[in-house]
Amino acid sequence: MLRKIISVLLQILFPRVCPLCGMILPKRLKEADQPPFICASCREELSFLSEPGCLKCSRPVPEEEEYCEECKKKKRYFNRGRALLLHDDNARKILYDLKFQNRRDNADFIGYEMARQFAELSGRWKIEALIPVPLHKRRLRQRGFNQAETIANAFSYWLEKEAGMKIPVDTRLLRRIYATRPQRELGPEERMQNVQKAFRADPLLPANKSGYGASCGNGIYQTVCLIDDIYTSGATLDACAAALKKAGIRHVFFLTASIVP
Ligand SMILES: [Zn+2]
Ligand SMILES: [Zn+2]
Repeated sequence: MLRKIISVLLQILFPRVCPLCGMILPKRLKEADQPPFICASCREELSFLSEPGCLKCSRPVPEEEEYCEECKKKKRYFNRGRALLLHDDNARKILYDLKFQNRRDNADFIGYEMARQFAELSGRWKIEALIPVPLHKRRLRQRGFNQAETIANAFSYWLEKEAGMKIPVDTRLLRRIYATRPQRELGPEERMQNVQKAFRADPLLPANKSGYGASCGNGIYQTVCLIDDIYTSGATLDACAAALKKAGIRHVFFLTASIVP
């Protein structure tokens, strides 16, 4: 009873608002309703990438091309990956507010949409664990949370709720061992050098509370999926993939909330 009162009060005091226009969203009436994460007209303004573009990174490419310019030039450690949204002004606002304005509802929205879009694909890829791109512990202390982990948790939650799939989030296996400069301050070549040695995957760590990590299967996963907010040059995700493959993982995919065109 008390819990019910508190939940109603919270709803009145802190109603969910649309992440783009700020309109107060209707309350979710029954379980089967779509969660009110965004208003209908703003949802129409989002650029969902329903067609995969580049066969490696999913960045939109001209119809006759198989790969984007960057994937043509570079050897990639990740197998391939997809992004939910094109990184336009709307996606930028949603992700910026999540990261710097502490709008955690935005991660819930992204995770929900990712589950709807990528559940089938996650099954086909045979993903055993979601690995959020880690922050260095100093930056984690500054910000208080890792936006990639928040998105991964929401994605995992909605995968189970909407598609009945259990894919856990593993935050133990991959670590950021060097604090790097923010990638957005650097050019493409610098980005690669900046992150190349920043990550380490250590399969010998003891298993975490949920029992995943080192104790999974024969000691390590076969296939994992990296999760991040924005794909820009792919340098960070590729450095993570290199570390995971060095640790013996065979297939490394990625899913991101958005991709820079
Ligand atoms: Zn709106
Ligand atoms: Zn590409």
